[in-house]
Amino acid sequence: MALPTALALEIVTPDRAIVSQQVDEVELPGADGYFGVLPGHTPLLASLQVGEMWYRTGQERQYLAIAFGFAEVLPDRVTVLAQIAERAQDIDVARAEAAKKRAEERVSQTPADMDFERARVAMIKALTRLQVAARARTRA
Ligand code: ATP
Repeated sequence: MALPTALALEIVTPDRAIVSQQVDEVELPGADGYFGVLPGHTPLLASLQVGEMWYRTGQERQYLAIAFGFAEVLPDRVTVLAQIAERAQDIDVARAEAAKKRAEERVSQTPADMDFERARVAMIKALTRLQVAARARTRA
């Protein structure tokens, strides 16, 4: 059987379908670290953490902020079921800056008053959103 030459990428959140298209390469924030997928990849199921993902068509990469969920990889298909997936252009930078400031304030409180894991996740989400939004601004 011929090896696939492209990947059918689907990115879905509980609210909506974000992406449905043929792509050449995908990189995802897996729970055990970032991993890349090219056509012909070995099948796998991965859980996702908070981080940046990108997909490439030709020379062009599109970036999204991702938080939690799963990715199913097949040789000719990548399906991302994410709790949150935001394209760079949909990110509200002022909101992410405010969330980052709140998380910083929480982390600086005394440990007894603070849910550290919650503050850590809020901080990483905000930093990821700012990083992805900045990529949209520099790519023009
Ligand atoms: P905030 O503290 O600003 O509400 P959050 O990290 O608590 O942010 P989430 O629970 O991650 O928010 O997301 C709730 C919804 O709001 C999701 O649909 C998410 O896509 C959207 N959202 C959160 N922050 C932003 C942002 N900066 N830009 C665009 N959409 C956002």
